[in-house]
Amino acid sequence: MGTRGQTQVCVVEAGPAGLLLAHLLHREGVGVVVLEAKSRAYLETSPHRIRAGVMEWGTKEILVQAGLGEGLLKNGHEHQGIYLAHGGELHRIDFPSLAEGWRIWVYGQQYQVRDMIARFLEEGGEILFEREVVGLSDLETAPKVRFRTPDGEEGELEAEFVVGADGSHSRTRGFIPGLVLKEKNYPFAWLGILAETSPAADELIYASHPRGFALFSMRSKTLARNYLQVSPEENLEAWSEDRIWEELNVRLGGVARVQPGPLLEKSLTPHRAFVAEPMQHGRLFLVGDAAHVVPPTGAKGMNLAVADAVALFQALWAFYRKGEEEKLRRHTETCREHVWQGEFFSYWMTNLLHTQPDPFLEGLRQAELKQALASEALKRFLAENYTGRRTTGRWVGLWT
Ligand SMILES: Cc1cc2nc3c(=O)[nH]c(=O)nc-3n(C[C@H](O)[C@H](O)[C@H](O)COP(=O)(O)OP(=O)(O)OC[C@H]3O[C@@H](n4cnc5c(N)ncnc54)[C@H](O)[C@@H]3O)c2cc1C
Repeated sequence: MGTRGQTQVCVVEAGPAGLLLAHLLHREGVGVVVLEAKSRAYLETSPHRIRAGVMEWGTKEILVQAGLGEGLLKNGHEHQGIYLAHGGELHRIDFPSLAEGWRIWVYGQQYQVRDMIARFLEEGGEILFEREVVGLSDLETAPKVRFRTPDGEEGELEAEFVVGADGSHSRTRGFIPGLVLKEKNYPFAWLGILAETSPAADELIYASHPRGFALFSMRSKTLARNYLQVSPEENLEAWSEDRIWEELNVRLGGVARVQPGPLLEKSLTPHRAFVAEPMQHGRLFLVGDAAHVVPPTGAKGMNLAVADAVALFQALWAFYRKGEEEKLRRHTETCREHVWQGEFFSYWMTNLLHTQPDPFLEGLRQAELKQALASEALKRFLAENYTGRRTTGRWVGLWT
């Protein structure tokens, strides 16, 4: 396609939400064009795009059923639980026994995006890389999407529907009149590292320590992904490699040890959350981080993005197959259900595990953590939400 074109559905972005939706529509014969601001190489290899690793069981099932699971089944890993470390003790949350057989799958989001791009292109799908969307118009009648290339050349695409899946800094979100951003900034951030070393344990360890929370996760048996709770104003330069490894081991509290290894990436992620409502206007629909963001503690972001994509696919497919508009009209309402469940769980888990700067809240947190570790009911609540059984799990198998 040159600088002008037409399609049925224009998907703005090539992240997990947009790629899944584009793939599902394309498979059913609906015309789709994906516009992505970055290059394919950047999406697939940039250290700035190393993100999620934890997939709910339902997300893994959805990707496999959609024909996008080859890489994750070959190179990902099933985990049947997580550990909570507190006061020098390890407490295991056993998912299958607490969440009726549900578990999680660990596979890097960047690898999944790479797999989805490859599959979509192999099947004849169209992705225009390095096309930054700069404007939308006529959203109530016949939408037009204006984009720009890195050389400054402008183009326009006419579409029947536009999907804004352009992440947390979404530009498409700005085209919804009367949109309200319900937001929360947490007083926490994560200093994250990716390192060539074996992970601290065979399953993720969520460590609560008086000096701050730490998370020990993994990409593979030789790649560890670890995080330290720091202040959102933290200066990354103040953290030498030696200091990071020492602090990680302190916060493990003796329940395990991490061996230092070469750092491949170091980043700071402030914790914030928002939900944008409504998630639609005319023929524009938002999905994924464009519509809502959660702090990463509960590992919900990509899972919610996948649930939104399936919900919108159902609505668009009902329109194209049967001319029904009801599901499209109800897009915000449909997604609100799993989105607020995800926000609630992320809020709960973040506040349960992070050391609070406010001494009163820290006292409450200690009391709650003690209860959670002693209570079967709270462990069940954690397992059901972490694996997605209670929330996004309802989208598994619902294609039409
Ligand atoms: C440190 C960290 C750890 C995380 N861990 C987990 C986890 O374990 N599990 C989990 O489920 N989630 C996790 N998440 C969240 C997860 O990464 C996001 O929720 C997920 O990427 C959202 O997908 P998306 O498709 O909505 O948006 P994105 O992945 O952000 O994709 C948006 C795309 O839009 C493109 N774009 C932006 N603007 C434009 C434009 N104007 N024109 C064209 N293209 C544009 C961008 O280049 C990008 O490719 C984590 C996030 C972080 C930061």
